Amino acid sequence: MPYLASETRYSSMPYVRAGRSGLKLPRISLGWWYNFGSVDRFENARAMARYAFDHGITHFDLANNYGPEPGSAEETLGRLLKGDFAPYRDELVISTKAGWGMWDGPYGDFGSRKYLIASLDQSLERMGLDYVDIFYHHRPDPDTPLEETMGALDFIVRSGRALYVGISSYSPEETRAAAKILRDLGTPLLIHQPSYNMFDRWVEDGLLDVLEQAGIGCIVFSPLAQGQLTDRYLKGIPQGARASKADPERVWLTPDDVQHNLPKVRKLNEIAQRRGQKLSQMAIAWVLRQPAVTSALIGSSSVEQLEDNLKALDKLDFSDGELQKIESILG
Ligand code: NDP
Repeated sequence: MPYLASETRYSSMPYVRAGRSGLKLPRISLGWWYNFGSVDRFENARAMARYAFDHGITHFDLANNYGPEPGSAEETLGRLLKGDFAPYRDELVISTKAGWGMWDGPYGDFGSRKYLIASLDQSLERMGLDYVDIFYHHRPDPDTPLEETMGALDFIVRSGRALYVGISSYSPEETRAAAKILRDLGTPLLIHQPSYNMFDRWVEDGLLDVLEQAGIGCIVFSPLAQGQLTDRYLKGIPQGARASKADPERVWLTPDDVQHNLPKVRKLNEIAQRRGQKLSQMAIAWVLRQPAVTSALIGSSSVEQLEDNLKALDKLDFSDGELQKIESILG
């Protein structure tokens, strides 16, 4: 059966502008870091992509190295774009990135012009696309001059490979400098992609202010702290959950992290219940309460998780009392 997107796909998702740009993003976007690779079930990836789009998630976020195997999440998207999503390309915002290690030798990592342009050409081939909507530099590079990295982003837009550019995990100072170089080149910095959740609040220390002042959008990754801010680990670490995957090269979330945060998670879960929400929904609403945040970039391993997480949009507001209680738990 060919896929026909739901006619109601735009009925419940709010869309907001990324900074002062013309590009609107859904309040919840879907990340393809895990669960869309060659080691995962294609039918599950396809079901999640369809469900997301059917419910207004128009933005899929990828990177050259997402999989595993690295590159295979882009191949999965390429397969879906050829089939299910072919009629809907112009209704989708597809992003990819380069900046972490992708291939051997000195040209497959960090932020040189050589790496970024070659990597994006490889990404476009894997996805079967002529251009991506947003291309990111994935992390700061302490050794390459910022002018070179930003010059490569500017070239990428001018050469038609991407419509907009972004940066990820840059500090407030680096962000200000990058935005200035790009502005002078005539390619505005669309968006920043930092981590942000109740356990990881570095963006509150200056970055959000810089983004608001400069009119740059903000899409926050890991709003659920990789699954910790959900009910996933309340009764131990289930088989197949992210924290159960042993390869330290690939997994940023360890069983020790989960154990360490569990007492706080239980208390936060009680507040969520009193709000009539699941913890995952409260955690998403909590990052979206920041005026500078354009979109919460979630991951999921099943349609059921996506369904749960989209319900965050039913209750985004917090009372002062709830925010204070959350603060006192987070300490
Ligand atoms: P989240 O914090 O949203 O964690 C997602 C994980 O939480 C899922 O894989 C799932 O874990 C669990 N989960 C999600 N919803 C539920 C639910 N309702 N109930 C129970 N468990 C749930 O985000 P990610 O860490 O996955 O990151 C999201 C995206 O951000 C990535 O896909 C990527 O696009 C981007 N990213 C960017 C980075 C950067 O450097 N720019 C770095 C990291 C991520 P499980 O698999 O155990 O079921």
